[in-house]
Amino acid sequence: MRIFENLESEVRGYIRSFPTIFEKSKGAILTDEQGEEFIDFFAGAGTLNYGHNNEHVQEALMEYLKKDGVVHGLDMATTAKKEFIQTFDELILKPRNLEYKLQFTGPTGANVVETALKLARLIKGRSNIVAFTNGYHGLSQGALAVTGNNEYRDESYISRCNATFMPYDGYFGEVNTLEYFRKFLEDGSSGVDLPAAVILETIQGEGGINVVSKEWLQELETICKEFDILLIVDDIQVGNGRTGEFFSFEFAGINPDMVTLSKSIGGGLPMALLLFRPELDQWKQGEHTGTFRGNNLAFVASKVCLENYWQSDDLSNAVFYKEKILKEKLQEIAKKYEDEYTIDVRGRGLAYGFEVKEDKSIASEISEYAFKENLICETCGSQNQVVKFLPPLTISEDLLNEGLQRFENAVDKLFK
Ligand code: PMP
Repeated sequence: MRIFENLESEVRGYIRSFPTIFEKSKGAILTDEQGEEFIDFFAGAGTLNYGHNNEHVQEALMEYLKKDGVVHGLDMATTAKKEFIQTFDELILKPRNLEYKLQFTGPTGANVVETALKLARLIKGRSNIVAFTNGYHGLSQGALAVTGNNEYRDESYISRCNATFMPYDGYFGEVNTLEYFRKFLEDGSSGVDLPAAVILETIQGEGGINVVSKEWLQELETICKEFDILLIVDDIQVGNGRTGEFFSFEFAGINPDMVTLSKSIGGGLPMALLLFRPELDQWKQGEHTGTFRGNNLAFVASKVCLENYWQSDDLSNAVFYKEKILKEKLQEIAKKYEDEYTIDVRGRGLAYGFEVKEDKSIASEISEYAFKENLICETCGSQNQVVKFLPPLTISEDLLNEGLQRFENAVDKLFK
């Protein structure tokens, strides 16, 4: 189906997956030009944790614009920036006893990943970065070099000499994959250069909703400390409350050297932020700048989301509560078809995957059937073999149940 005659490349993924033109959006609902309403279980791949056109964001932005708040300030200090930094410190860092400096980068996830890798290499004076199988960190050259999916990379001739891949938790089933990593590091002649940093997601969002265990994450932190390697957690997709806690690594009690944030940190507007330990601030004056580093409208949107959702535990508790509904329903559907298929349901918080082990192409078909039921569900995994669930964290219980019912209808129609 052609959506925009000659105007946009037809290979653009989401146009292919969701063949309609969306006109409006509110909360967990997207409405197309024909007035059809879709429940959104994709939420901009974790960008809309607070829902489309969140009312607090809408109000704050309109008020800010009306009073001629600074929209673009390049690197100048602005009131919006000051207030965001204070709020982030007060509501996110201090209660968690985290001490980080903040660096605003270009607004995309890839921009902040590039910044983290550059800073790590600069500090350690080493070029190798260890990344993990099936990880995703963005498609610009440096970020792509640490993205564990050949399909994105091979045709681009991206150099891999500055990245080494290690097996992620669960890659070899029950085997503790960190034993390999440790052995390579101990054996100085293994061919794996001592890395400047390790970068990972605690739940691989694009890579198939693969989840690391608490013990694995703690052991990784220990190895990094032992071998003087910086630990970077990429929380672009599953941070910002997706797992119920603000940072996805909190459940393991680890303390990464750097954290990358983007997507929902801007309350739906483009923003990316690198957090790093204060002693890692070894940038020279003007060494890493850029025109759209820090966007004042995103500061306003972000601040209002932090104030409305992170002053209390209400959002966290709501995520844990809704996780139970999501997980139980997906498990119930998996059970219904257990004689025909082995279906793996996995995830944490409101990031879940549904994988039919016998047939890798079935996930895309489920997504198409779901679209016909007016439900938006993307696929993920190296072969798009996993249906992914990332509803806005603010979705109402009724809409969550309704969306899950539509998902079941789609699966029933396809499987029966
Ligand atoms: N890291 C992770 C974990 C991501 O999920 C993504 C985007 N899906 C990126 C980095 C790259 O972000 P962007 O697409 O904004 O460059």
